[in-house]
Amino acid sequence: MTNPKHVCVLGAGIVGLATAWQLHREGYRVSVIERDAPGHGASGGNGAQLSYSYVQPLADPSIWHQLPKLLLSPQSPLKLRPRLDPLQWRWGLAFLAACNADTSRETTAQLLALAAQSRAAFEELMAELEPACDFSATGKLVLYSSAAALDGARRQLELQRTLGSGSQRLLTPDECIAIEPALAYYRDRMAGAIHTPSECSADCLKLCTELEAALAQRGVNFQLGVEVQGFVQSGGRVAAALTSAGPIEADAYVLALGSASTRLGRELGAYLPVYPLKGYSITVDVDDSPGAAPHVNVTDSARKVVFARIGSRLRVAGMAELVGHDASIPAERVESLVAATRALFPHCSRFDDLHPWTGMRPATPTGRPIIGRLANAPSNLLFNTGHGALGFTLAFGSALRIGHALASG
Ligand SMILES: Cc1cc2nc3c(=O)[nH]c(=O)nc-3n(C[C@H](O)[C@H](O)[C@H](O)COP(=O)(O)OP(=O)(O)OC[C@H]3O[C@@H](n4cnc5c(N)ncnc54)[C@H](O)[C@@H]3O)c2cc1C
Repeated sequence: MTNPKHVCVLGAGIVGLATAWQLHREGYRVSVIERDAPGHGASGGNGAQLSYSYVQPLADPSIWHQLPKLLLSPQSPLKLRPRLDPLQWRWGLAFLAACNADTSRETTAQLLALAAQSRAAFEELMAELEPACDFSATGKLVLYSSAAALDGARRQLELQRTLGSGSQRLLTPDECIAIEPALAYYRDRMAGAIHTPSECSADCLKLCTELEAALAQRGVNFQLGVEVQGFVQSGGRVAAALTSAGPIEADAYVLALGSASTRLGRELGAYLPVYPLKGYSITVDVDDSPGAAPHVNVTDSARKVVFARIGSRLRVAGMAELVGHDASIPAERVESLVAATRALFPHCSRFDDLHPWTGMRPATPTGRPIIGRLANAPSNLLFNTGHGALGFTLAFGSALRIGHALASG
């Protein structure tokens, strides 16, 4: 492909916006099409963690012995509602096939490499743009409640060490409390934790808003409230994206539609194994007294809930449901996040304003995103989707790779 002048990015979640940022820097003329407002898909209320060193995929052999409890317990963070949807079954079977040690190790290696690229690209963005997004670099503690779980974590730590992720350490409960005093109330229920001092957090929605404003000011054309409905293809290429505002022509297209990627991908001849993995979050104002609310990012691995401080608020996120595109927020999921927060940090907030939110992680069975061209798809179409539980973390590295793919096409 000759050097394309005009690239049209489909989708303004964090992945589409990071792509637009990167391509604009590389000198392309960029348009962005988004049916809603930037960051109002899965990126909006996510767990806020930039988890560069802790990338263990969900598809892991340990899932096999957890599966009966995860599927049957009413309090389980995992939920499957079987549907008459071949995509759901195909995804579920591929996920189970990926739950083996070799695939998990390969995914971990690939995600760590992408995360390292992403961190470097994100740091450049922060230095250049200085976006107001409640960024902090206070590290992360992943808590384990039993000796057996801690043992599994030790193995993952050793694997990550051999892959060059060397800054992590196993801590005793007392060492955890020395780092994060707000965990004092939880002391007797922890077996230990993995500490990664270099992890960060930020408000992804604020970052999306800042990116849109900065890019628009630099000449990127945003078509907001405009839905991509299909494509005109000609000679093995996309000639135009058909949208609710009419056809949009460009030299190349980047499909970054999150969990909505699959349907439009299929129209272009590409099977994208991306299924919505629904999650929830609440965001509460915190009590600033010393030791009440955490400053360090915390993951409660038993409940599969993450806690991140974003400014004067605490974001609490979790759950993984295979229930299609159902965007409802059941009261018991919100109560469960409140209960998880009270269990660890009983005095952190008055919990009078919860801001409940739900979002669909664009998940692939292995946890590896789809970045670049696909064999059966049009040659001027690139994919940047399927980032699952790590899209915020991986967005800027993925955008770099899209830049390389466009340049080498
Ligand atoms: C509960 C939860 C917690 C999470 N926690 C973390 C975390 O702590 N750290 C982390 O790194 N990641 C986390 N993630 C994952 C991360 O949020 C996602 O991987 C990431 O947001 C995906 O970004 P995206 O741009 O691909 O998708 P989205 O943000 O969903 O963006 C896709 C965009 O495409 C638009 N769109 C869709 N269809 C059309 C159409 N036909 N026409 C026009 N526009 C369209 C949508 O409106 C949307 O804005 C979490 C996710 C959830 C749900």
